[in-house]
Amino acid sequence: MTESSVFTRILQGEIPAEIIAQTENAFAIRDIAPQAPVHFLVIPKTERYRDVVELADGDPALLAEVVGLARALADEHAGGEFRLVFNTGPGAGQTVFHVHAHVLAGQLEEKTLGA
Ligand code: AMP
Repeated sequence: MTESSVFTRILQGEIPAEIIAQTENAFAIRDIAPQAPVHFLVIPKTERYRDVVELADGDPALLAEVVGLARALADEHAGGEFRLVFNTGPGAGQTVFHVHAHVLAGQLEEKTLGA
C-alpha cells in the first residue's frame, strides 16, 4: 500500500493548509512556495490520476471541473486572466504525482516557469 499524496493528506486534515475553494470533486489551496503574485493549486480530490494526461484519458469531466474551479478563482482573485500549468513528468518539474493545476496570475514573467 503506497502512502497518500501530500494533497490527499491536506484534504484529510493530516497536513495543515487552508482549503480556499472546492467543488464536489476538486479543491484549491495556495501554493506553499508561490512562483507568482497569485499562485493556487487546483487538485482533484481523488489521487488516482498521476498527471493531466491520465486525467484527460480517464475522466475528462473531472478535468473540466478542475479548469472551472481555476477560472472561478481567477475571476475572484485576478480579474479573470491566468496561466494554467500542469507539470507532467519529473523532467518537466513535476514533484507531486497526484495531478494538480497551477493557477498563476498577476505580473507574470515571460520566462519558463518551473512552477
Ligand atoms: P509540481 O512541482 O508541479 O508537482 O507542484 C507541486 C507543488 O506543490 C509545488 O509548487 C509545491 O510548492 C506545492 N506544495 C508542496 N507541498 C505543499 C503544501 N504542503 N502546501 C501547499 N503547496 C505545497
